[in-house]
Amino acid sequence: MRINERVISLNDNPVNGNARYVLYRMQMYKRLDDNHALIYAIRRANELKLPLVVYEGLKYYYPWASDRIHTFILEGVEEKRAAFEALGIRYVFYLQRDTDSAKNTIASLGKDAALIVTDDYPCFIIPEHNRRIAERSSIPVFAVDSNGIIPMSRFDKEEYAAYTIRPKIDKLLDRYLKPLPNETVEVSSVGIEIDCPETLVTGDKIASLVAACDIDHSVEPSPIYHGGTIEGRRRLKRFVEEILPDYDKGRSKPDRDGSSRLSSYLHFGFLSPLEIALAVLESDAPQESINAYLEELIVRRELSFNMTRHNPNYDSLAALPAWVQKTMREHADDERPFVYSLEQLEAGETHDELWNAAQSEMVATGEMHNYVRMLWGKNVIAWSPSYEVAFETLVHLNNKYCLDGRDPNSYAGILWCFGKHDRAWFERPVFGLIRYMASHSTGKKFDSKKYIEWARTLSEPPA
Ligand SMILES: Cc1cc2nc3c(=O)[nH]c(=O)nc-3n(C[C@H](O)[C@H](O)[C@H](O)COP(=O)(O)OP(=O)(O)OC[C@H]3O[C@@H](n4cnc5c(N)ncnc54)[C@H](O)[C@@H]3O)c2cc1C
Repeated sequence: MRINERVISLNDNPVNGNARYVLYRMQMYKRLDDNHALIYAIRRANELKLPLVVYEGLKYYYPWASDRIHTFILEGVEEKRAAFEALGIRYVFYLQRDTDSAKNTIASLGKDAALIVTDDYPCFIIPEHNRRIAERSSIPVFAVDSNGIIPMSRFDKEEYAAYTIRPKIDKLLDRYLKPLPNETVEVSSVGIEIDCPETLVTGDKIASLVAACDIDHSVEPSPIYHGGTIEGRRRLKRFVEEILPDYDKGRSKPDRDGSSRLSSYLHFGFLSPLEIALAVLESDAPQESINAYLEELIVRRELSFNMTRHNPNYDSLAALPAWVQKTMREHADDERPFVYSLEQLEAGETHDELWNAAQSEMVATGEMHNYVRMLWGKNVIAWSPSYEVAFETLVHLNNKYCLDGRDPNSYAGILWCFGKHDRAWFERPVFGLIRYMASHSTGKKFDSKKYIEWARTLSEPPA
C-alpha cells in the first residue's frame, strides 16, 4: 500500500507496542544526507518516542560478490559509524563471511523493533530481499524511494525513451531540486544493547576482512576508486571545479578525464543525485555543460530507474520494443565474421585494440568510460553467436567487474546497445535496424592511441 509518493508499506502488520527502537535497514543508500529512507525512519522513531538503530549487513553470497565490491563498501563503513554516533544514532555493521557466520540478523533485530524501514530499489536482489523481510516479519515494513531526484512513483508506467520522460521531468524538477531538511533524533540510541553480531571495520582491517570472506578473490579492489561519502565528495569537488566547465565536449573523449566518474558513488548511494545536481547548479560552469551533465544525471538515470521499476523483463531481451524483436528475428542467422568465447572476451583477446583497451580499463579499475562502453557493448553483439549470448555476456562482465554494475543503468545501458530507448537506424547485417558503432570510426572521434596507451598503464584517468 502506498503511504506517500516515496513510501510504500510492504505488509499490514501492527506496530510492536513493546519495542525498544525503530530499525532502519540500510541497503542501497549508504549515506546520512539526502536519504529519504533515513528521514522517514527518524520521523517514525520520534513519533513513537523511540531511538533509531541503523543496520547494514554485507553477505558473502550475493551475485558477483568480490574483493572489489566488498572493499568499496567497507571503505564507507568507519566514516558512517562516526557520523551516525555524532547524531545520536547507533549504527550496526555486520559482515557475514561464510556459511559458518551468524544468520537471520534482521529477524533478531526485528524482535525489539517497532517497525522496519528499508530502501526501495527497483532491481538486482533488493526487491526480493524486501519481499522476504516483509513476509517474515510480524511488524510493519516500509520501503522508501531515495533513488532519484524525482520519486519513481511520479511516473506511473514505463516510459518509451528519453524524449517521453524529459518533458515530464522538466515540469516536476523545480519542486524536487531543493535541499532536504535535516532531521534529528529526539532519543539517542548510542550504546543501546542489541541482539545482533557486529563487525568493527577500520581502514587497516579492510584487506584482512575481505580476505576472510567466501567471495570471488580474483576481482581485485580498484586501485583508483575508493568507497565512502568523503571520497565521493572529494571527487565531486574536483569534478565541479576542474572538469565540469568543459563537460559538454570532454565527456566524449575517453583519452582524457572529461566526465564525473561518480557512477559508483551513486550506485552504492554514497552520494545522492540531489547533492551532485545542486553542486553542479551552483557552479560557474557554462550553461551548456551544466545542461549536458543534468541530462545524464537526471533524464537518462531516471529513465533507467523507470524501466527497471515498470518492466519485469528488465534483465532480458524481452524488455526490447517490438521493432527490435522483429529486426532481431530477421537477422538472427546472419553470419558473424568474428565469434569470441566469454573467456576470450574476458581476457581482452580480440583483434580490436580499442575494444581490448576498454575491457582492460574495466577489469583493472572497476569502471569503463561511457563512450567506449557503448562501443564495447555493440561489439559484443557483433562477436557473439546469438543476441541472447551477447546479452548474457554483457550483463556478466559489466556486473562482475564494474563498481557501478548491478544498477538500473547497467540493464538500461546494455539494453540500449540492442536498441532500447533508441530509434531504428539503417539496415545492416547482424544488427538489422539497431544502431551500429564500429571501432575504426568511433576511434577517430578521440585520441584512441592515447586511450589504448593509457589502458596499458592504468593510472588515474588521463588529464
Ligand atoms: C553497455 C553499457 C553498460 C553500462 N553500464 C552501466 C552501469 O553498470 N552502471 C552505470 O551507472 N551506468 C552504466 N552505463 C551508463 C554510462 O556508461 C555510465 O553511467 C557512465 O559511464 C558513468 O560515468 P560517469 O559517472 O563519469 O558519467 P557522467 O558522464 O559524469 O554522468 C553523470 C551520471 O549520469 C548518469 N549517466 C551517465 N550516462 C548515462 C546513461 N547513458 N544512462 C543512464 N545514466 C547515465 C550516471 O549516473 C553518471 O554517473 C552503461 C552504458 C552502456 C552503454
